Amino acid sequence: MPAVTAPAASLTAARQALKRYYGYDNFRPMQGDIIQSILSGQDTVVLMPTGGGKSVCFQIPAVVSEGVCVVVSPLIALMKDQVEALKANGIVAAYINSSVSQGEATDISRAALSGHLKLLYVSPEKLLGEGFLQFLKRLNVSMFAIDEAHCISSWGHDFRPEYTQLGVLRQHFPSTPIIALTATADRLTQRDIKTQLNLHEPRVFLSSFDRPNINLVVRSGQDRLGQILDFIGRHPNDAGVIYCLSRKSCETIAQKLQQKGIKAGYYHAGMTPNQRAEAQEKFLQDDTQVIVATIAFGMGIDKSNVRWVMHYNLPKNIEGYYQEIGRAGRDGGPATAILFYSFADVLSMREMVTKDVPPRQAQLNTAKLERMQQFAEAASCRRRILLHYFSEDLGRDCGNCDICRNPPTTFDGTLLAQKALSASARTQQRVAINLLIDILRGMRNQAVLQHGYEQLKTYGAGQDLPYLDWYSYIHQMLNDGLFYIAYEEGYALKITERGQQVLKGQLPVSLKKFKVAEKAEKQTRAAKKAAAEAAAAGAGTPEARLFEHLRQLRKRIADEQGVPPYVVFTDTTLQEMAREQPTNRVAMLSVSGVGMKKFETYGEVFIEAILQHGTPRPVPAEDEADDLPNVPPFTDDFAPAPRAAKKAADRDATPTEDLSFNLHRQGLNPEQIAAQRGLTVSTVRSHLEKAYAKGLDLRLHDFLSDSQLAEIAAARAQLGPDAGLRDLFDHLREKYDYFQLRLAGIRAQRKG
Ligand code: ADP
Ligand code: ZN
Repeated sequence: MPAVTAPAASLTAARQALKRYYGYDNFRPMQGDIIQSILSGQDTVVLMPTGGGKSVCFQIPAVVSEGVCVVVSPLIALMKDQVEALKANGIVAAYINSSVSQGEATDISRAALSGHLKLLYVSPEKLLGEGFLQFLKRLNVSMFAIDEAHCISSWGHDFRPEYTQLGVLRQHFPSTPIIALTATADRLTQRDIKTQLNLHEPRVFLSSFDRPNINLVVRSGQDRLGQILDFIGRHPNDAGVIYCLSRKSCETIAQKLQQKGIKAGYYHAGMTPNQRAEAQEKFLQDDTQVIVATIAFGMGIDKSNVRWVMHYNLPKNIEGYYQEIGRAGRDGGPATAILFYSFADVLSMREMVTKDVPPRQAQLNTAKLERMQQFAEAASCRRRILLHYFSEDLGRDCGNCDICRNPPTTFDGTLLAQKALSASARTQQRVAINLLIDILRGMRNQAVLQHGYEQLKTYGAGQDLPYLDWYSYIHQMLNDGLFYIAYEEGYALKITERGQQVLKGQLPVSLKKFKVAEKAEKQTRAAKKAAAEAAAAGAGTPEARLFEHLRQLRKRIADEQGVPPYVVFTDTTLQEMAREQPTNRVAMLSVSGVGMKKFETYGEVFIEAILQHGTPRPVPAEDEADDLPNVPPFTDDFAPAPRAAKKAADRDATPTEDLSFNLHRQGLNPEQIAAQRGLTVSTVRSHLEKAYAKGLDLRLHDFLSDSQLAEIAAARAQLGPDAGLRDLFDHLREKYDYFQLRLAGIRAQRKG
């Protein structure tokens, strides 16, 4: 019988595995519930955005369950990525697909049969190929995970016919739970997943599609290359993707970046598979900083440290846009998505999406493009608009988009609107936006002179405003329904009924000015110059310098081991290291993303680097924490300590510890101390531990009775001197938490 029937592993065990193998303290929203569902043997469907953390949802159950989890994955590159990452975390995993030789496959099968393997990735072709299901029956399959499950739906954009055969799994393994995961949330796809996989009353988890760490920005399409160079200049080490429309523009943009000394590559469907694989590999490996690509790029990659994504052109629809920006900041660290927008893009895109398609499709495409345009022109929180599109309400403004950061000011724009309307009326409503602006601004170019527009009464009536302001105001007027565009007449602006009312002074108009944004722009230009100079002089904050140093170390190690740098540590982990500067085991293990295996493999080297290159600190006296008999690889309440407290914990006696200790002496329990001091309970506990280890007088019996102490001591004696705290924890069947076990350990040490 499959392993499901074995006593289900607990969520506590799952959380411990998260800390131990991944180095993360907490599950993200939903992950815990999803894991519980699958551990209870239930079929489970997971809909989560890219970067939301789907993999953990089946990898952790796989780790804490008996037997092997079989993962069906459609892309070879994806399997390779995931297996590499699992191995780096100390989890035994392998993949079998067409890239694996017969000999290797035999070895893997043997490992699977021996029960060592926790996860086995297979392509659907392999899975359904001859004899494979029979082979699986000889294994103890704990669960099936169907990754990228939307491939099953012919409605979806990634339809894979082989996926539709996966329904047989249920026949062959009637009681093995199936977890299906995808980033596509639409109703039809959901339905197809459930029915085609023959899922049995599955629990469906639809997570928020919000990716709050991505800063959403829309910039005017003027001087895109200049803006890109500007941005890269300010983020000289951040990897990014620039999406553009054509193969040709991929190549030329990449070339221009290269000319400026930027390590840029390109990727598009016109290249040979080898060229593409090489371009991708270099990007994964951080050898290429910027990849300029058509949307074909990124399907199968997991690179977690993509820090920014740009859209050189307006995407066709919001679905595509959201999927593409989702490739930024998968590690949860700050990321930026910049969309360049010009009205001209809307026009050319409009042609593209309506050409050579049936009228109904053209209509649908146009409607979707319009939503995209509305997003780009919006004057309210962009994230809310995006999430609304996916039927989700954030309930507040996000604070991390250009609009939230630089809210526009509203003013009475009646007069400005009248100028524009009047100018348009005087051309017999024949001109499109650009020419109208030229007229308003009194430009003497050919288009103006050719029609004698310089004779109009309104010629130059708006010359005090820059082009971009007019551009923005006229767009707002379009959105407000004062103008519409006659596409069939060369995109001429036409005045609506409402527009006529404004012209006659019967209706006031309010307009928005993105004033702060402009100021911020100017500031960043100045700041950029300063930053560039500073960077050139090798300056920057000590933290930034340390980060850079650690980044280079990571790159060297990654190259030596032939894995992408983010597999060694993610950017967010390195950043935390640079900030917290852990110089001992405990501190290093409390950095998010440092699990046991990674600590064993890389801990020393990174501690060494921090000691050498970090900010010199008051040298701590022999840190007691290091002397603790067995510092646990993880604990069940390893909540990240607030920064100040954590730093303090690195040093010797500190006021913060004293404060906690004094409150303890006054009779407060850790929860009360934490509440009073605004710290986490685990931080307070660590303060008390330290105080106790230092020889201070703790009210130990608040936490452990004599008989409990005796029980722990007996268990420790039974396990012998090599046992770790985790062994003790397991041996005592999770009866005590790590805090208690550590206190007991310190007591034993103090007594001995
Ligand atoms: P998805 O498959 O949904 O696109 P991943 O599983 O690749 O997302 O996860 C995205 C990133 O988030 C990875 O770097 C992963 O290690 C990280 N991550 C996942 N769960 C957590 C967690 N609970 N805490 C911190 N980071 C997490
Ligand atoms: Zn916002």
